[in-house]
Amino acid sequence: ATPAHVVQVLGTDSVTLGHGMTTHIARQIIQIQPSSAYLIGTDTNIAPLHLEQLQNALVAALAEIGSTARVHAYVIPPGETTKTRETKAMIEDWMLENKLTRDSCILALGGGVIGDLFGFVAATFMRGVPVFQIPTTLLAMVDSSIGGKTAIDTPAGKNLIGAFHQPRHIFMDLAYLRTLPRREFVNGMAEVIKTAAIWNEDDFTLLENGAEEILGLSADNSSSSDSKRKSEHDLQLLIQVVLGSIQVKAHVVTVDEKETGLRGLLNYGHTVGHAIEAILTPELLHGECVAMGMVREAEIARHLGYVNDVVIGRIVRVLQAYGLPVSTEDKKVLQLAPGKHCSVDQLLDIMRVDKKNQGDKKRMVMLSGIGSTYEPKASFISDNVIRKILSP
Ligand code: NAD
Ligand code: ZN
Repeated sequence: ATPAHVVQVLGTDSVTLGHGMTTHIARQIIQIQPSSAYLIGTDTNIAPLHLEQLQNALVAALAEIGSTARVHAYVIPPGETTKTRETKAMIEDWMLENKLTRDSCILALGGGVIGDLFGFVAATFMRGVPVFQIPTTLLAMVDSSIGGKTAIDTPAGKNLIGAFHQPRHIFMDLAYLRTLPRREFVNGMAEVIKTAAIWNEDDFTLLENGAEEILGLSADNSSSSDSKRKSEHDLQLLIQVVLGSIQVKAHVVTVDEKETGLRGLLNYGHTVGHAIEAILTPELLHGECVAMGMVREAEIARHLGYVNDVVIGRIVRVLQAYGLPVSTEDKKVLQLAPGKHCSVDQLLDIMRVDKKNQGDKKRMVMLSGIGSTYEPKASFISDNVIRKILSP
């Protein structure tokens, strides 16, 4: 096992990052939060890969201290479509039937769907029980598990019902990423690249130079089989890259807990990206749409004179190095979502309903270079500028 790194969120030690630390995770959880019952929430993709190991580690850790606490698991179907009120109600009814009390504790073992859903269950069960986030996707590690936002989707839209509920602790075990499909891994890389782009040029350079090594850690890398035996060097590189990203997220979340200004910087690429996503979902993943959004928003910054061609070139090339699309006309995009088209009018139409707008101005993070932004928050950009850049 690789020695763990600890990152603070909101003034307390909140994130432990390491590799191969299931036993450590189990011991830590029962020590941090003595409970009468531990409920592991996960999905049917993750359960056969990682559930038993965590369950066994918890049972063993409890035995070590002579505890009689129960260990339960609740497994739901994978994917965004289960992040609903109905699933939440089913979990809650199950918890009540199984006599879980307010001294229970929830362990969310999974991607952002599991973290959001079980986090929200924890936020309201018996007026709130502690939750531990154990992210198993790269996106959940660098993004959704930090910050305390939990939510479910409704027919009216995504993440509309939810609560702030800070996890008791977040355990990021990079070993989980070894079973993560390449496309899901790359999806998370989009957020990693985004964070480096707004905050840290050194991290960005690391990403530019390390694509091959970093991608080697995902599950189905099609290259040689011995790339599965990840060298210690490549693992350290991934740790450094993930650490860089979570330090930034932890910092802005701490400075700006309820998302008023600085936290908005993490929305770089997301104003245009969300509009693209609204059209191309579910064929395209969130990170893939954000990648295309990052390019367009950087081009808007160039149009306004904040960055030059070199910056655009570096953004485009680093995204391509990880196999992310950089334009809605990208071959990959046309293949994945045949027949779908993102027209300027449609994109502007979707952006029109954003509650962060001010009149006909949209909020958008403007880079001023690699690793820096024009303002310490999102800027207001007028429609005609956006229209100009989005037009083919
Ligand atoms: P996800 O949870 O659907 O996971 C992606 C896929 O990978 C799923 O099929 C899952 O079963 C599978 N998987 C997960 N871990 C695996 C592993 N180790 N090995 C093999 N397969 C594995 O999606 P996601 O991208 O992790 O998260 C997306 C969700 O996160 C969205 O619902 C989004 O709204 C939410 N989100 C929340 C926040 C927040 O602040 N709360 C921020 C960003 C995104
Ligand atoms: Zn995002």
